[in-house]
Amino acid sequence: MKTLTKILTVGILVLGMNLSQAAEKVTAGAKGGRLLENDSPRAEFFVEKDRTVTLTFYGADMKPVPVQDQSATAIAENPEGKTKIQFEKKGDVLVSKSPLPAGEKYTVVLQLKQTTDSKPKNFRIPLNTAICEKCHRPEYACTCGDD
Ligand SMILES: [Zn+2]
Repeated sequence: MKTLTKILTVGILVLGMNLSQAAEKVTAGAKGGRLLENDSPRAEFFVEKDRTVTLTFYGADMKPVPVQDQSATAIAENPEGKTKIQFEKKGDVLVSKSPLPAGEKYTVVLQLKQTTDSKPKNFRIPLNTAICEKCHRPEYACTCGDD
């Protein structure tokens, strides 16, 4: 009985750790964006100066690979309401057809499909393009992990 309690406690601790890490840990992308936790090839979410979004894909060796069958849509949960954003292939990357709506500190829900048949996966990205003073990366891609 004692062992069982111990196993349960450890299990809960591990689970708790995973949850908090998932909320805080951001992996840096090569362009300076936020690397998503999708299956390889992984996608980097990057907001351009004109506020369009570029999704660049990277293989296991973190070298960029051309986009294949991946597709994406996003919902910007901006203060004025939800805005749907479509993505299209442009060369080796996916780009948004429209810029992110004005404003900051709203959530962008990116829905990514790895192949035409795979189930879409959602990624919630807190949008904040202000530059972090510590890591000098935009806040949405900040790797400090403590705010
Ligand atoms: Zn930072």
